[in-house]
Amino acid sequence: MDCIFCKIIANEIPSTKVFDSERLIVIEDISAQAPTHLLVIPKKHYDSILDCDDDLFMTEAIAAARELSKKYKVDEKGFRLVINTNEEGGQTVFHLHMHIIGGRQLTGQMG
Ligand code: 5GP
Ligand code: ZN
Repeated sequence: MDCIFCKIIANEIPSTKVFDSERLIVIEDISAQAPTHLLVIPKKHYDSILDCDDDLFMTEAIAAARELSKKYKVDEKGFRLVINTNEEGGQTVFHLHMHIIGGRQLTGQMG
């Protein structure tokens, strides 16, 4: 399948992996929008959150985000978890992923 995140999971294209479990990986975003910008990606391909039938993915994704927020020391000041979905949601890679963004003041604006 011609999917950039499937290729990253298969180690066909390089990435900086910061977490790896049976169900998911976490990598550094190639175009970081903040000092900490990570992507939590399920190993199984889902186009978006709309077709993810694995309820445990979100549970594990949030647990990983909690752990990594401490590791990256953004837990105290705060961070944001974002899942962009489809065109108007700003999704550009159609393999489900959750952003972990922190390390600077984020604006209150959602768009
Ligand atoms: P979206 O806009 O779909 O929510 O987010 C896609 C994210 O994937 C973007 O923040 C973009 O910078 C990141 N991204 C796209 N291609 C690559 C890549 O090849 N490697 C990594 N590490 N991140 C990527
Ligand atoms: Zn994929």
